[in-house]
Amino acid sequence: MKIAVVGTGYVGLVTGTCFAETGNRVTCVDIDVTKIEKLKSGVITIYEPGLDVLFDRNIKEGRLLFTTNLAEGIKDAEVIFLALPTPPGEDGSADLKYILKVADDLGPLLADYAVIVDKSTVPVGTAEKVHARIAKNAKVEFDVVSNPEFLREGVAVEDFMKPDRVVIGTNSEKARKVMNKLYAPLVRQGNPVIFMDERSAEMTKYAANAFLATKITFMNEIANLCEKVGANVDDIRRGIGTDSRIGKRFLFAGIGYGGSCFPKDVQALHKTSEEYAYDFKILEAVMGVNENQKTKLLPKIKQYFNHDLSGKTIAVWGLAFKPYTDDIREAPALENIKELVAAGANVRAYDPEAMENVKRILGDQIVYTNSPYEALEGADALFIVTEWPEFRSPEFERISSLLKNKVIFDGRNVFELDQMRELGYTYYSIGRDVVA
Ligand code: NAD
Repeated sequence: MKIAVVGTGYVGLVTGTCFAETGNRVTCVDIDVTKIEKLKSGVITIYEPGLDVLFDRNIKEGRLLFTTNLAEGIKDAEVIFLALPTPPGEDGSADLKYILKVADDLGPLLADYAVIVDKSTVPVGTAEKVHARIAKNAKVEFDVVSNPEFLREGVAVEDFMKPDRVVIGTNSEKARKVMNKLYAPLVRQGNPVIFMDERSAEMTKYAANAFLATKITFMNEIANLCEKVGANVDDIRRGIGTDSRIGKRFLFAGIGYGGSCFPKDVQALHKTSEEYAYDFKILEAVMGVNENQKTKLLPKIKQYFNHDLSGKTIAVWGLAFKPYTDDIREAPALENIKELVAAGANVRAYDPEAMENVKRILGDQIVYTNSPYEALEGADALFIVTEWPEFRSPEFERISSLLKNKVIFDGRNVFELDQMRELGYTYYSIGRDVVA
């Protein structure tokens, strides 16, 4: 099939590359000239494990093309994906300006029947809006389908190539056939393609993200209570996660969720509920708890240094909102670093992938280092913000020889309490006793 992907960010580039991998001829379109120039010259623009191999192969085989020209990109395409940003607007609702702009542009360009697929996360009713905007100028038949994306950054290729399920919202039989054909190679193991109407598909994506954010937040609340009653949240996690009704995943307590999806999607769903005069109490609680959770360790850091961080140096391990990505959108690291700097501390940071992105935001307010150990040079404390695997079994002797004080603040419960006790560290984590 000939397909086009409009918007070549995290979702667009993965979608385009993976559909090229299954034999389609894909053109990725973006308005970012620098990004398209890089991609055209074979340079991948995001860090996503395994994507580079597919990217190189499909470029070589001529199945993956890039352009800044929408007309050229969608020429002869049977399917046109919209993988455009839907950032929060000022009031928290999803801003549809990117999607609706492309819908306006597409109308006059359609020369033959095409399926326009909304891959972006968009509020209920958006497929209808997109349909209306395209219809204003279109001279041919077309369908607008909602096909929310469930990939996780860091394992995006695996998620895309072997999805747990594919959700497709459409009432058009013609579009349904096209979508079935496109996805067939990805669901050969029998994972379902679930068809529903457009509104339900749009809602499914928000329900999934809001549920996962709630699961994490619930566990963070349990962790906060554990600290007060003297229980260990890791034991609670093991104790409840083994119950098949609860499940093991998304039960890790920490300093809150971040990223480009959960915060904005929870906010947008809350906004939708407001628009429909529904008081969605759980979502409000989730947003409030997560906001506090992100900086949960800061008062403890301040207290440790007698409420005076001026001139103190804090080594920060991990900047990305989670491991295996360079994405720092809504990353708890940013808020924590800003507060540390505002309190007069110096920050020496290390992240395997996200430092370039942070440099663009924080510039020279902090020091960027080439290894976790370089970050510790002259530091008064270590603060772990993202649980990259390389932080899990570090050389503790080297850490203690570099740190001025043997103290670790761990926002992701990377280490065991017994281990820290044996090694003689003062250790603060989430939902567990302080090792002093
Ligand atoms: P992104 O910001 O990484 O990429 C969006 C791209 O669209 C950018 O490259 C931007 O330059 C481009 N763009 C903007 N206007 C354009 C236009 N008029 N024409 C062509 N290109 C244009 O965003 P993303 O993370 O890929 O997210 C895209 C959508 O997918 C969002 O709705 C998001 O909520 C959803 N989503 C994201 C993830 C994720 O893990 N990142 C997962 C599932 C769903």
